[in-house]
Amino acid sequence: MMPTQPARVRFAPSPTGRLHIGGARTALYDFLYARKTGGQFILRIEDTDRKRYDPEAEQEFYETLRWLGLDWDEGPDIGGPFGPYRQSERMEIYQEYILRLIDAGSAYYCFCSAERLQQVRELQQKRKEPPHYDGHCRTIPPDEAKQRVAAGEPSVVRFKVPRPGRTTAVDLLRGEIAVENSSIDDYILLKSTGMPVYHFAAILDDHLMGITHVLRGSEWLPTFPLHVLIYEAFGWEQPVWVHLSVLLNPSGKGKLSKRHANAEKSGSRAVFALDLREMGYLPEAVLNWIGLMGWSYDDHQEFFPMDEFISKFSLEKLNPSPAAVNFSKLDHFNGLHIRALSTDELTNRLVPFFEQAGLPAEREMISEITPLVQERIRTLDEAVEMARFFFKEEIPVDREDLIGKNLSTDESAHALEQAAAVIESLNSLEQAPFEQALRDLADDLDLKAGQLFGMLRMAVTGQRVSPPLIESMTIVGREKVLDRIQKATTILRQSG
Ligand code: GLU
Repeated sequence: MMPTQPARVRFAPSPTGRLHIGGARTALYDFLYARKTGGQFILRIEDTDRKRYDPEAEQEFYETLRWLGLDWDEGPDIGGPFGPYRQSERMEIYQEYILRLIDAGSAYYCFCSAERLQQVRELQQKRKEPPHYDGHCRTIPPDEAKQRVAAGEPSVVRFKVPRPGRTTAVDLLRGEIAVENSSIDDYILLKSTGMPVYHFAAILDDHLMGITHVLRGSEWLPTFPLHVLIYEAFGWEQPVWVHLSVLLNPSGKGKLSKRHANAEKSGSRAVFALDLREMGYLPEAVLNWIGLMGWSYDDHQEFFPMDEFISKFSLEKLNPSPAAVNFSKLDHFNGLHIRALSTDELTNRLVPFFEQAGLPAEREMISEITPLVQERIRTLDEAVEMARFFFKEEIPVDREDLIGKNLSTDESAHALEQAAAVIESLNSLEQAPFEQALRDLADDLDLKAGQLFGMLRMAVTGQRVSPPLIESMTIVGREKVLDRIQKATTILRQSG
């Protein structure tokens, strides 16, 4: 099915906790569908749960979405024609519409005390009935109820589920879901504080904001028929409903849990999207990774830069089955996207990591290092570890480590001295002749090139693993290279 109408799609997080990869995935699909259809991606902050409201979480939502490049067209910070976009600023609207529902006989005031509700629950438990409201206040005449409210009696507003009846809710991926209305509770829509609950506020806002497609977590499936009934009560056209797949722990057992919430390298990884930034993952790789947890284009393509995501995305190919999160795949995608960047762009991404590590991160220096690490790193911070030696004046090395493979201390020192002589004699450290000269030296000394290069690597970088040696030495510069080799030979010549 080709999308023909520009869609209005919203991401509606509750700022009660940090944005995790499941939420980021919903935002991605929202964004893709809006861009694909030439429509709008709307950010709405669902902050009616004031007890759990966390202003830092809200700020982190903005920061995460911006980092991921999921720019919204309307939202609390930028406004738009259907604002306000923060639910706590829409109280008058909720008040107006709840009255409409009450006047239409689709909602009613309930005055039941907490104690009474507790008794009802206990009785139902005894009878092995599912907990539900027993309808005690359903039949209070509306005028009487209004008088009691006006007199200051505490109340909530409940939805009056039409009974008897049967409700059919249609999910794009799952088809029709039909339930008897007797199984749908008279849910509270407005709390005694006047605050609406999700079931009311989200539906109202979706309608008033002209939302055409609702993509949300499948935890809303159980109350989906209630939402359909609220639409019907208002006589409004429903959006297209899409309930996304559940993300499971890597083992495939259980919903992705906070147990995996600690940002850790290898093994268990971060489930909060922004932690992945600190861990050296590219936003494009994170998007690629989460995008394919629950959507695929075909059996082959796995590399999706944003433009391809947009052109190939379709709601129909979303997969409703639960998906286990595979963290090692993230490394894989990060590698692919690191290699796909221009060296210039990769340099831009690397600079903050060098700064963070407290290294004198001049862009020019890093741009020389970038091509050496581009093929080798899985995460951006690995570049810092690999290239740290470029920035050090002193390279501390152990005598043991300087000894060449299968060589004596003397032979090792001699080889390094000879290498220093060769390096000194060269006109320039241009790569090809430089490498050839060292290979010739290895031949002359009856060594394998690997033996000589291994010793030089340790002497010059202090590391067993480094970017390619010849290029690295060129960047370090002849003077420093000679100095480090000199120091290494001195260490080797010291009586051990
Ligand atoms: N505020 C809801 C949540 O965070 C939004 C669900 C929806 O997208 O409708 O779960």
